Amino acid sequence: MELNIVNMFPKALNLYGDRGNIITLQKRCEWRGIKANIVEYSFNSNADILKTADIILLGGASDREQGIMYSHLLSLKDLLKSLIEDGVCLLAICGGYQLLGEAYIDANQNVIKGLGVLDFYTKSEGKRLIGNIVIETTLDVFPKTVVGYENHGGRTYHGYQPFGKVLKGFGNNGKDGFEGLIYKNVIGTYLHGPLLPKNPHIADYMLKKALERKYSFDTLQFQKLDDTLEYMVHEKVKELYM
Ligand code: GLN
Repeated sequence: MELNIVNMFPKALNLYGDRGNIITLQKRCEWRGIKANIVEYSFNSNADILKTADIILLGGASDREQGIMYSHLLSLKDLLKSLIEDGVCLLAICGGYQLLGEAYIDANQNVIKGLGVLDFYTKSEGKRLIGNIVIETTLDVFPKTVVGYENHGGRTYHGYQPFGKVLKGFGNNGKDGFEGLIYKNVIGTYLHGPLLPKNPHIADYMLKKALERKYSFDTLQFQKLDDTLEYMVHEKVKELYM
């Protein structure tokens, strides 16, 4: 078995070391004997690369980069939308998450149009929401907690299934108690950068979904890994953050 993992604009959308997510997916595939083909999608890439993607990563960006990226991503809008509807796995983080929606209204009230592949918007309101965050995810995984770090001025409002309930931190908007978004196999989240190394259950959730979609893979056959160290970190971080 093999999975094609596409890292979108890794130079521009890599605000907090989002590449750590790629390395985690790659290693967890390798340890199971699954071939992971890592492909970078950049400014001159052919959109056909995306058509064979099993997992897509859209990382975080500053307001300025988000404005620049929008014009490049716009031509991919219809393709991304059809891939999402077809169940491709997409991890969209912070600026990448905001870009999936209709618009991001920045701190100066400039409207940066989003791709509008999902029906929501984000607005920068007052002070930035910064700090460690712990959520209880709505996904069917164990453990239920997801730990991370958030730093965003934008407040996101939507009616989709959230990625989780905020136990500590701010989440989508600091008001409704929810974090992120789930739509089909899309995870949108404010949990920055290396989200997956500290949360291997989320990495495996994505890998299982991708294998199910591509190979009708029976997830009961999914090989367990020895994650003693990873969960030691997860638990320690959780304890410190709470
Ligand atoms: N520009 C967005 C915000 O501040 C996203 C920033 C980020 O990706 N950290 O809300």
